[in-house]
Amino acid sequence: METNDKYTASPERYAEMAKVYNRCGKSGVLLPKVSLGMWHNFGGHDPYERSRSITHYAFDHGITHFDLANNYGPPYGSAEETMGRLMEQDFAPYRDELFISTKAGYDMWGGPYGEWGSRKYLLSSLDQSLRRMKLDYVDLFYSHRFDPCTPIEETLQALVDIVRQGKALYVGISNWPLAPLQSAAQYLRERDVPLLIYQGRLNLLDREPIEDGILDFCAAQGIGFIAYSPLAQGLLTERYLDGIPSDSRMSKEHFLKSERRTPQLLDYLHELQSQGVAHGHSIAQEALSWILSQRGVTSVLVGASSVEQLKNNLEVIS
Ligand code: NDP
Repeated sequence: METNDKYTASPERYAEMAKVYNRCGKSGVLLPKVSLGMWHNFGGHDPYERSRSITHYAFDHGITHFDLANNYGPPYGSAEETMGRLMEQDFAPYRDELFISTKAGYDMWGGPYGEWGSRKYLLSSLDQSLRRMKLDYVDLFYSHRFDPCTPIEETLQALVDIVRQGKALYVGISNWPLAPLQSAAQYLRERDVPLLIYQGRLNLLDREPIEDGILDFCAAQGIGFIAYSPLAQGLLTERYLDGIPSDSRMSKEHFLKSERRTPQLLDYLHELQSQGVAHGHSIAQEALSWILSQRGVTSVLVGASSVEQLKNNLEVIS
């Protein structure tokens, strides 16, 4: 599809509602079991037409939830700019069918107000995100990490006020340890802005949210849980079985280092591959199914650098 072609969403996109969606905790929100993350592959250095086709494929298959953060790119902010371009060009007529999230917490701009958990940072960052994405509001705004130096009440009250101002419909927490998460859930509930969802890294190689009791806590409290890097950034796929492809995330040696491709990992991948054959699954599908079978998990938040990868991942819910 060329840049000027008009996009019309598939009329079949909600044909399989029961298979595609999970209720998010005890809330009124249904989220797709597989959601699309825009950390990689949607920035200013990535081909826009590819980003565009991936999002079209997602939405055409009922994937209504797109996840962003202020600093996704590179450069920082550019994944949100891509989202803004997509909103203007393709998705504006479907705004009420989309569930768009963004976050603030990690480094975004220089000086004392461009990261962590102050009210100053969170409110101004969300205003910037809305401008980049050409949105009046986001569906979900997250505190992206716990800030041990800012009073927890300051961070949480900023989240409450963001909802009261109509700039986000719901709030979420990402990467917070269990104890402050418990305090956050209580603080937010008492102010009638219940915590919608927790976003944490969970995959077959990294089970911290289970080991730390976060998943159990969320399930018991009716808070949704969305698993990020469910494929361990691509490790839990066929991608690295025969080497390091030159267009892969690992080849950039930044977020995913080649030292992670160990003989033990390859043995494990071969094991998963044979297990997958029995279920008619790829390695990725095997990895995603395991997460989706955990009690309390609402959705897996996958990345994809091609429509083919997303298609492969979506087969897990087809
Ligand atoms: P994944 O674990 O799904 O890794 C995605 C990468 O795996 C792709 O870019 C691709 O690598 C490879 N891949 C995906 N599907 C396949 C397939 N079927 N076959 C072969 N290779 C495949 O997730 P991410 O690490 O990208 O994270 C997903 C989202 O989670 C992010 O976009 C973001 O929204 C969120 N996130 C949140 C964080 C937080 O702190 N809250 C932190 C990190 C992520 P390649 O590009 O090499 O082709």
